[in-house]
Amino acid sequence: MNQVSKELMHVGEMASGAQLTVPVYRLKAQGNANFSKGPSVYIQANMHGAEVQGNAVIYQLLELLKNLKINGDITLVPYANPVACNHKNGEYTLGRFDPITGVNWNRMYHFDESVIEPFAEQHIGSSDSEIEASFKQLMLTDIEQKLDHNIFGLTTGQRIAYQLQRLAHQADLVLDLHTGPISSKHLYCPEYCQESANYFDIPHTLIIPNDFDGALDEATFCPWWTLQEKFKNLGRDLSLSDGVLNKESFTVELGSQEQIDLAEAHQDALGILSYLNYKGVLAEQHAQEFIPQTMTRYGCYLKDYKALYSPMGGMVDYLAEFGQLLAAGEPLVRILRMDNYGDGDALHNITLDRQVIPILHFASASVNQGTELYKVFTKFFIF
Ligand SMILES: [Zn+2]
Repeated sequence: MNQVSKELMHVGEMASGAQLTVPVYRLKAQGNANFSKGPSVYIQANMHGAEVQGNAVIYQLLELLKNLKINGDITLVPYANPVACNHKNGEYTLGRFDPITGVNWNRMYHFDESVIEPFAEQHIGSSDSEIEASFKQLMLTDIEQKLDHNIFGLTTGQRIAYQLQRLAHQADLVLDLHTGPISSKHLYCPEYCQESANYFDIPHTLIIPNDFDGALDEATFCPWWTLQEKFKNLGRDLSLSDGVLNKESFTVELGSQEQIDLAEAHQDALGILSYLNYKGVLAEQHAQEFIPQTMTRYGCYLKDYKALYSPMGGMVDYLAEFGQLLAAGEPLVRILRMDNYGDGDALHNITLDRQVIPILHFASASVNQGTELYKVFTKFFIF
C-alpha cells in the first residue's frame, strides 16, 4: 500500500478575500538503499474549465497507484485552475479564456530562451547529471523570480500558471490532461519523443515542433529541446529520452468537454500507466501488467492538422465520424438554412477535396460563418 499525501497550494485570492486553492497529491518512490530512482512525474488536469475528464483520470490513477510499487515520485494536480473550473454561464462551463484579459488559460506559461545558449557554453564539459541538476535549478530559479520578485505584479492567470509550472519543472515526465470540445482522444507529442506515443492507448498523435506558444507542454519541453539544439551546435549530443536526461512532456486530449465518465477514465489511467511503465516509473514486478493496447496509431504533423471554418452561418448536422478515414468529396457536415426553404437551398453539404481523419468538432449545432467546424488530420501516416 502506497501513502498518498495531500496539500493545498494557494494560487490566488478573490475580491471577497476567498482563497483560491489547488489540491496537490503526492506519491513517493519506494525502494531500498541501493535502489536507483526512476523518472519523476507531474500530471495536472482541468486548466480549461470545461475539460473535466482529467480529474476523473487522476482519481483512477490514484486508485491504481496506491496499490503499486513505484520507482519515481508522482505528483498529481486535479482542478489545476480554480477560476476556470468555476466559470459557469447558464448551463455551460466556460473557462477556456481568462474573462478579464481574454487570454487562453493555457498560453500563460513562461519560457525565456535567452538563458539557454550561455548555459550550454558554460556546461559544454559537464556530465549529463550535472547538466540535469543545474539546468533544472536554472528553470526553477527563473520561475521563482517571476513569482516572488516581480515589481509590477502578475495577472491572475500568470500567478496560477507559474505555480503549476514550478511543480512541472521539478519532474522529468509531464502530462497536461485536456479535452477537445466534442472530440476523439488525441495526443500532442514533441517530435523528439515520438516512440513514446506508442505506449499511450491513444490512436491519434499530433507531432509538434520546438515552438513556444505559452502552453504547459511547450514550457516544459522547449527549454530541454532548445538546450539539446544548442549543445548540438557546440558538437555535443544530448539524449532527452533515456538515461539521466529523460525529459518528456505531452498534452493528452481525453475526449469531449463537460463530461465525466469513470469507466473511460479507468481505461485512460491504464494507458497512462502503460506509458509510465515504459519509462521505468513503475517497479520491475509490474512490467507485464501495464502494456499498451494493440491498435492502429495515426500520426500527423501539426502543420497538417487543419481547421475547417464554416463557409456559412446555419444549423449543423455533424456527419463525419471521429477516427474514420473520410474520402475526398464525402460530406463532413450538412448545414440547415430554414430561411432559404422554398426559394433557395435549405440544405448544404460541406466537403473537402482530400482524404482526412476528423478529430474533433465544434460543441454547438448553431454556427456563424467562420466558426471552426472540424479539426482534421491531413497527410496522416501510420506510426
Ligand atoms: Zn484544453
